Amino acid sequence: MATIKKKKLKLKKGAYILFGILIVTITSLIFGIKYYKDYKYKQTYEYKLINIGYSIDNAKQIISKVNDETINYILNNPQNDLIVDFINEKYFIENNLDNYLKFFEKQNDETLTDIVAMVNTHANNKWYEVTFNTDINLKEKMIVNKFYALNKEYAPTDLKNISLDYSYGNEGDNKLLSYAYDEFMNLWQAANKAGFYLMVTSSYRNYEEQESIYNERKEAQGERKADQTAARPGHSEHQTGLVVDMTSKSEPIESDFKESKTYNWLKENAYKYGFIERYPEGKTYITGYEPESWHWRYVGSEAAKVIHDENITYDEYYAYYIEYKNK
Ligand SMILES: [Zn+2]
Repeated sequence: MATIKKKKLKLKKGAYILFGILIVTITSLIFGIKYYKDYKYKQTYEYKLINIGYSIDNAKQIISKVNDETINYILNNPQNDLIVDFINEKYFIENNLDNYLKFFEKQNDETLTDIVAMVNTHANNKWYEVTFNTDINLKEKMIVNKFYALNKEYAPTDLKNISLDYSYGNEGDNKLLSYAYDEFMNLWQAANKAGFYLMVTSSYRNYEEQESIYNERKEAQGERKADQTAARPGHSEHQTGLVVDMTSKSEPIESDFKESKTYNWLKENAYKYGFIERYPEGKTYITGYEPESWHWRYVGSEAAKVIHDENITYDEYYAYYIEYKNK
C-alpha cells in the first residue's frame, strides 16, 4: 500500500512539474511572439513613417503608391504632408519628387498640379538651359520643344508634297512625312464633309530654314521676344515633318483663326486622325509658346485621344506616358 501511495505522490509531483513547465512555455511563447511581432513591426515602413510623424493613413498611402527607393528618400527627410499631396497628383512621377519640393519652395504660388506639370516637362528650367536629344526612334511620338532638340542633320526621308489644292505657296513648298500626310488627307476629307476647307500655310522646314526664320525674328525683336514666338533651330517641330500650320479658305489669317468655326471643328475632331493642337491656350507655362491655333502636330490617334480626353499638352503626355510609363 505504502509504495502505491508513494508512486501516486510521485506521479502528482511529476504532473505539477509538467504543468508548470507548460505554463512557463506558453507564457514565454505568448510574450515571445508579441515581442517578435513588435520587433518585426518596427522594421516596417509603416512604423518608420509613423515614427517620423506621418499619420497611419498617410503612411499607408505612401507605401501603396511609391517604390522602396522613394520611401527611403521620404524617410531620410523631415515629415512633410506636401509629399503625400504630390504623390496623389495624377501625373506624379517618383523620380521627380525631390524636384517638385525644390520647385515648390521657389514657386509656392503655383498649384501642385502646375508644379508637377512643369517639373515633368522640364519647364521649371530656363529655356534652352538644359537640353536633351530627341529620340527619333519614337517616330510620330518624338518630342521636339524648348528642351528637346533634333540635330542639324536630321531630315525625314519619306516626305510627300501637299497639293496646291490644300496649301499656299508654290508646288513643293509644303511637305509632310508620308504617314502623317495620309492622315492629314483623312482629316482634310472629314473637315470638308463638315463644310470646312483646310489650307496649309506651312509644314516641313529643314534646320537651315528654321535658322533663318529665328535669326530674322531675333534681329527684329530681340532674343527674348523671338524665343516666345519662334523656335531656335533644332528645336522646331516643323523639322520633324509631322506638323501642319493650317487655317481655312474662308479664314486664311493665322492670328484670326482661333475665332473661326473651322478651328472649333478641329479642336473637337482632329484627334480622331491623330492630330493635336500643340500650343493651346492657357498652357504657355508648359509649352513655352503663346497659343498657336494654326499649329497642329501628328502624334498618332492613340496618343491624340489621350491628350484630347485628358486635356494635356504633348509635353505632359510625353513625360508621363512615354518617358515614365514606358520605362
Ligand atoms: Zn507651326
